[in-house]
Amino acid sequence: ASAAPDWPAAVMEQIKDGWFTESCALWPGQAMSLQVEEVLYNKKSKFQDVMVFKSKTYGNVLVLDGVIQCTERDEFAYQEMIANLPLCSHPCPKKVLVIGGGDGGVLREVVKHPLVESVVLCEIDEDVINVSKKFLPGMAKGFFSPKLTLHVGDGFEFMKQNQDAFDIIITDSSDPVGPAESLFKESYYQLMKAALRSGGILCSQGECQWLHLELIKEMRTFCKTLFPVVDYAYGTIPTYPSGQIGFMLCSKNPETNFREPVKALSKEEMETMNLRYYNTEIHKASFVLPEFARKVRYSCIYLYFIENVLFYTYQLSY
Ligand code: SAM
Repeated sequence: ASAAPDWPAAVMEQIKDGWFTESCALWPGQAMSLQVEEVLYNKKSKFQDVMVFKSKTYGNVLVLDGVIQCTERDEFAYQEMIANLPLCSHPCPKKVLVIGGGDGGVLREVVKHPLVESVVLCEIDEDVINVSKKFLPGMAKGFFSPKLTLHVGDGFEFMKQNQDAFDIIITDSSDPVGPAESLFKESYYQLMKAALRSGGILCSQGECQWLHLELIKEMRTFCKTLFPVVDYAYGTIPTYPSGQIGFMLCSKNPETNFREPVKALSKEEMETMNLRYYNTEIHKASFVLPEFARKVRYSCIYLYFIENVLFYTYQLSY
């Protein structure tokens, strides 16, 4: 790869013989490699190492702390799902909050939705926004929407200043290490619950059922104590670990059924929104989990049930 000679050693560590290899402690024993044409950017921001390289077959690729965040070729799968799973499950999603999402892709999808009136995006790292505007223009176009209010800061802190403010909260964060660690904790979900209006819905990047079943189970268990409706879906995307990514969805409305979208997009809307992955059938199918993951889902409900029976028995005895 024609990487500039003065790239830090860390970059050269991950790029060998013209291939970028993503290895991470969150998915031990496996690695994803992409052939590199040119390293376009690499600098340490206040929060993380930010790199963009031009790949041979996946367009430009954004990498944060050595982990692939998005590629121009397959990002639409993730952006369309994390945006439309919640938006099409809410009868009137007017006010939306996106946490993270510094590449602009989720924003691009949210502002397309016919009922969305305003979007706030809170991204901790302004370097990611600027680099995305320069090297990922197809995603960063979301930043030029008149519906947007941009806030640069920590999503966890931002959530504390908002109560009863949003119909939809989407957490498009990196993985639970580094700046995004707090965004996978119960305290963050408590804050999101307070920031959601009545009937509000949240959707968070939910890692991978092949790799992070324990984390998903833990998150699902605490979400069940906070929200009447919790569900988990997934989509396929070649450049995320094990080729897929999950979505944790919670609703304050006990009537919500994520598997039956309240808003089935018409053919015309699909065309206007230029959707290439999401459609109503994929929406419904994305909640159908393989048996090994389905079992975990039900074991959470069992734990939840036991916990509550014990809790109420304890209460009655005093
Ligand atoms: N779609 C990608 C995925 O699923 O891994 C994530 C893309 S986006 C680039 C992730 C963004 O989350 C990054 O720009 C990162 O700076 C941002 N981020 C991480 N921790 C954050 C926090 N505490 N508050 C706000 N943004 C945060």
